[in-house]
Amino acid sequence: AIETLYDKDGSLDGLAGKTVAVLGYGSQGHAHAQNLRDSGVKVIVANRRESANGKLAIEHGFDPLPVDEAVKQADVVIFTLPDEVQPEVYEKSVVPHLKDGMTLGFTHGFNIHFTTIEPPKNVNVVMVAPKGPGHTVRWEFEKGGGVPSLMSIHQDADGKAKDVAMAWAIGVGGGKGGIMVTSFKDECETDLFGEQVVLCGGLSEMIKNGFEVLTEAGYPPEMAYFEVCHELELIINLIKRGGLNYMRYSISNTAEFGDYYTGPKIVDADTKKRMADALKHIQDGGFAKAFRDDYEKGFPWFKQQKEKDRNHPVEQVGKELRSMMPWLDPVEM
Ligand code: NDP
Ligand code: MG
Ligand code: MG
Repeated sequence: AIETLYDKDGSLDGLAGKTVAVLGYGSQGHAHAQNLRDSGVKVIVANRRESANGKLAIEHGFDPLPVDEAVKQADVVIFTLPDEVQPEVYEKSVVPHLKDGMTLGFTHGFNIHFTTIEPPKNVNVVMVAPKGPGHTVRWEFEKGGGVPSLMSIHQDADGKAKDVAMAWAIGVGGGKGGIMVTSFKDECETDLFGEQVVLCGGLSEMIKNGFEVLTEAGYPPEMAYFEVCHELELIINLIKRGGLNYMRYSISNTAEFGDYYTGPKIVDADTKKRMADALKHIQDGGFAKAFRDDYEKGFPWFKQQKEKDRNHPVEQVGKELRSMMPWLDPVEM
């Protein structure tokens, strides 16, 4: 089993007297900055002041600085910028201000693992990656809990990297949910696999294809939406609380019989083989290269895919149906 640490296994001492600069005030940034500040850590934020996130940081009592300024004052620098922009911000605004014993902190292993950021030997390199969206990280902390987090020490320059990482993990709330000790490699590769194959990529394609099959067979799109999209939440909630066993206990015998009868025909040994291929493509750096190459050209392929899926019929009918269900707190995109 993976080594798991809690509040009692460490302390906030690793950040005592230190200034933590959180770069970016988006999903993860706003949670790390506020949770650490509420834990008594001295936190400064770097963000553009005029953007929505910048304004939010000001509203939350921070005084957002340019990245250069924040890094100059910092002992610990936490990168909560989009993965694709981290390397250039690092080169331009972090490298000139690096000093012995400084700590660079990441919330995802991508740039360190794929060496798009290569810090010098005199700085600590650590990761605290909460296993949840930033808003949950903040919300759970406010309720007195915390989201389970992965922690890793990539480079220990001064013998204090682990103390700093533990203090960060505890300060952000991870010590309440469990701090699992891992490597940048394992965090990065499993995170990419999960989001590509199951959570985001796999699920989006299941929804779109299921919707298309029903509507192409002549069923009303409204009914297709309910069956292949809306009801997902109910199923996920059951799985979240009690795994597949509880979900299968709760659904009808008809649904459970059909689950075993048809599921393996849809996701079969060939699908599993392609999942393994996707993992290889992640491990050998092929995915990272594709992502970097497209980013460097201005994301032409990425933008084209977004445009293509934005107006998929499941999105059109979904929007109308959600407006009939105000209790879902619908979001217009
Ligand atoms: P967001 O897109 O939510 O936020 C990015 C922030 O970076 C914004 O505040 C943005 O400012 C700022 N920013 C963007 N471009 C620049 C730039 N060129 N120079 C300076 N600041 C910039 O990012 P996420 O929180 O989603 O992701 C951050 C990191 O956290 C990534 O490494 C990601 O993999 C990781 N992560 C994310 C999770 C999540 O829940 N989203 C979960 C676990 C890890 P502005 O608004 O002004 O543009
Ligand atoms: Mg991810
Ligand atoms: Mg049904």
